[in-house]
Amino acid sequence: MVASSLRLREVSKSFPAPDDALARRLALDQISISLNAGELVSLVGPSGCGKSTLLRLIAGLDFPDSGELLIGAEPITGPNAERGLVFQDPNLFPWLTVRRNIESGLVARGLLQEKRGEVEEFMRLVGLEAFANAYPHHLSGGMAQRVALARALINHPKVLLLDEPLGALDAFTRMRMQDEVLRLWQARRTTTLLVTHDTDEAIYMSDRVIIMTQRPGTIDQIIPITLDRPRDRSSAAFLQLRGDILELLHFAGNASSDNFVAERSSSS
Ligand code: ADP
Ligand code: MG
Repeated sequence: MVASSLRLREVSKSFPAPDDALARRLALDQISISLNAGELVSLVGPSGCGKSTLLRLIAGLDFPDSGELLIGAEPITGPNAERGLVFQDPNLFPWLTVRRNIESGLVARGLLQEKRGEVEEFMRLVGLEAFANAYPHHLSGGMAQRVALARALINHPKVLLLDEPLGALDAFTRMRMQDEVLRLWQARRTTTLLVTHDTDEAIYMSDRVIIMTQRPGTIDQIIPITLDRPRDRSSAAFLQLRGDILELLHFAGNASSDNFVAERSSSS
């Protein structure tokens, strides 16, 4: 399955207000973004600005109040294996081996018989062939996340949605996994939208970085990253971008710092 473009036009989403049953509170306000087929784009923004909500809308797990979401020319109407989703928590089935966890994406679609041969290929792709029969509790965090990636990729998604997939990993594992995800992306050129809190990760990995404002989330800036890959995290150009993005985030986060604090304490 080939990569597809992803287009959002003036997408808004509200939820019931936590303090008033009759009111609704806007989480996303008129979000318009386009990803070209094969592009890797990061989404960064303050906690509570609607990043996960946006990914859930693209995954088809929830619906916008208004606006349009398109994969290629097709409107998104519900969940579909053509959009792979990986969260911070790998969400593996603890009672299934690595192999069965990766197969589970196919089982759900009734394609296991036809595609069983690909399971080996995807275990190799993420470097887990020696762990085919291991159970999740024997895996490190990085390995578990590689299983989750393989489980999403085995469906040959047109778009891969990553919601802070490396957020729970230690710094070293995280950097290795960034290279791993980049390698998978370079091999397959799946259109990828990566939510991350980590500005270095966004700069290291992406073609463009989208910066969102504090809730209700809007698009603040879109920054193209034109550095050659593999990127050098300590180059002057990299550090310059880091400084620029941190400054933008500082202002994005400060727009309503009271909300920011309230959000963090109420959502945990
Ligand atoms: P982020 O991922 O950027 O931290 P979220 O998308 O999780 O932010 O949340 C954005 C806002 O929408 C927050 O204010 C959050 O409380 C609210 N929200 C998200 N999901 C729901 C829901 N199911 N019901 C009510 N409010 C929600
Ligand atoms: Mg989130």
